[in-house]
Amino acid sequence: NQKRIAIYGKGGIGKSSTASNVAAACADEGYKVMIIGCDPKSDSSITLLGGKRIPTILDLLRQNIDVREKDIVFEGYGGVKCVEVGGPEPGIGCAGRGIIVAIQKLQKACPSMSDMDLIIYDVPGDIVCGGFVAPIRKGLVTEAYILTSGEYMPLYAANNICKGLAKIDTPLSGIICNSRSVTREEEIVRRFSEEIGSRLVAFIPKEQIVQDCERDGFSVLEKAPRSDIAHVYRNLAKAIMFNDQSILPGSLDDERLRELTR
Ligand code: ATP
Ligand code: MG
Repeated sequence: NQKRIAIYGKGGIGKSSTASNVAAACADEGYKVMIIGCDPKSDSSITLLGGKRIPTILDLLRQNIDVREKDIVFEGYGGVKCVEVGGPEPGIGCAGRGIIVAIQKLQKACPSMSDMDLIIYDVPGDIVCGGFVAPIRKGLVTEAYILTSGEYMPLYAANNICKGLAKIDTPLSGIICNSRSVTREEEIVRRFSEEIGSRLVAFIPKEQIVQDCERDGFSVLEKAPRSDIAHVYRNLAKAIMFNDQSILPGSLDDERLRELTR
C-alpha cells in the first residue's frame, strides 16, 4: 500500500525542510522512500545528498536528452531516491504541464517507483499556474498535508489551500505546525485544524540546528540524530506512515481566522 503525499503551505514556511527530514526518518525506519522536488529551485533533495545538486528532468528534456534512470534518480541518505523535476524557464511555460510530463518520463524510466512505500512530492509555496494541482491530477498524490505556523499569513495560506483541496476533491490528512515561536501557537494551530475538520499531527519547534544542518548539506536525522528535533521528525514520519484519516477540508471565514490569531 503505497503512500503518495504532498506537503503544502505558504512560501518559505519549511515544506522542503520538513519533507527531507521526514524522508530521512522514514528511510531510517526501513521504508523505501522517494522524494520528488517539484519546485524550480530544485532544493528538495540537497540535504539528502550531502549538499550536492542533481540534474533536473526538465533540464534534460530541454536538451533533448532521453532520460534514463541513472541520469535523474540519485540515491541519498538511507537509500532515499532523489528526483528533481526542475522548472519552466522564467516567464514562459506552465509549471503544471512541465510537472506532468516530467513525472510521466520518470515513471517510464524508473519502474521501481511503484515499489516505493512512500513518495513525497515537495511542491512550491505559491499556488501558481498549475503547480498546485498538477501533482494531484492523475492520482500522483493521494494524501495532502498542510504545514503552517500560528501566524496569520501562513494560516491564511493554509485556509486557501483547504479551499483548493476541497475544490479538486483531494483529501487532507492533517495539519503540521512548523513553529515560529508565536505565543499559544500550538493551541492556535490545533484550533484551526479542528475547525476545518482535520487534526494537528505534529508540532515542530523552531530550532537553529535545522538551519545549521541544512547549511552543511544534511538533514538533522543524518547530522544530529540524537537531537530533540530529530525525534520530532521521527514521530511525524510514523504519524504519516500510519495515518489513515483523511477528510475533505472545510475552511474558515476571514473574521474567524483573524480572531484565532489575535
Ligand atoms: P518554498 O516555499 O520557498 O519552497 P519552503 O516552505 O520549502 O519554502 P524551506 O526552504 O524548507 O521552506 O525552509 C525555509 C527556511 O526555514 C530554511 O532556512 C529552513 O532551514 C528554515 N526552517 C524550516 N523549518 C525550521 C525549523 N523547524 N526550525 C528552524 N528553521 C527551520
Ligand atoms: Mg521548498
